[in-house]
Amino acid sequence: MSLLETNLAEDPAVYKTLLESTRAIPWKIDWATMRFAYIGPQIGELLGWEPSSWVTVEDWASRIHEEDRQRVVDFCVSQSIAGIDHEADYRALSRSGEYVWIRDVVHVVRNEDGTVDSLIGFMFDISERKKTEEELVLLQKELEEMSFKDGLTGVANRRRFDFVMELEWTNARRNRQPLSLIMLDIDYFKQYNDHYGHLRGDQCLKEVAAILLQSARRARDFLARFGGEEFVLILPETDGKAATKVAERCREMLANAQIPHEESLIDQVLTASIGVSTVVPCLGDDMRAFIETVDRRLYKAKQKGRDRIVAGD
Ligand code: GH3
Ligand code: MG
Ligand code: MG
Repeated sequence: MSLLETNLAEDPAVYKTLLESTRAIPWKIDWATMRFAYIGPQIGELLGWEPSSWVTVEDWASRIHEEDRQRVVDFCVSQSIAGIDHEADYRALSRSGEYVWIRDVVHVVRNEDGTVDSLIGFMFDISERKKTEEELVLLQKELEEMSFKDGLTGVANRRRFDFVMELEWTNARRNRQPLSLIMLDIDYFKQYNDHYGHLRGDQCLKEVAAILLQSARRARDFLARFGGEEFVLILPETDGKAATKVAERCREMLANAQIPHEESLIDQVLTASIGVSTVVPCLGDDMRAFIETVDRRLYKAKQKGRDRIVAGD
């Protein structure tokens, strides 16, 4: 034994001073009686309950948040009986009625015959850590949403489009169902920005996205912002005729919205050009080539004078 150990062993007061000057709260439970043999005075500071009010394990269990109680008590009892040191996080009720996140770290002291003699442990205040954890989870969720959402219009972004398109392509091929794609590009949007300013341009894109969201009505219809002022609609289990109808509805609803566009070379209100195509994908068909077909038709709509739908070659 070192000199330091000898001194400590001979002077329990040193232990006591050390135990009671830490931020962690020490305690001991006698297993046979299920009563507290000791609890540090720090408990009063943390939870407001005087050390003398911690008499039995019931006092402990009853001050655990209802939602945590069963889980924590069952876990601690089973670990203790098995003689396994353990730790548990739970919300402890303070005297003022608030809850404090606690981590209880428990050491099981066993008799020579292996039965449990007592439990000794430390309670740590982990409320700050829990707060940070919760904030991180929220942040993570926000980030995940952000990475799939277009920041301006709130509809799905290009990345999500790639993902959903792949999925629906596979679905359509497996189930031998038609899959339609609509691609829409606002006419003379550069002039819109030049005339009304970029901020009004942004506002306009939001409006168009909201209109397109309403145009596609089936649960699995999917709208994404494909690029600057281009939007795409994926229409699963939709044949060419039905897809053209949806495209017509998009054009109509846009026209009804009467969004002023004085500098447009074809009208006084905002218009769009639309390409549509439908496929029943077979094994070996190329999804990219299909998307290019739709893009080509959109380009054709532009060439033919804009403000129109092209659904065939
Ligand atoms: P076209 O009829 O041939 O489609 O002509 P256009 O002017 O619409 O086409 P172009 O591709 O030349 O211009 C697209 C414009 O869209 C240019 C760009 O500044 C604008 N744009 C792209 N993204 C945004 C955005 O997020 N906000 C705003 N305000 N404008 C955008
Ligand atoms: Mg355009
Ligand atoms: Mg464009």
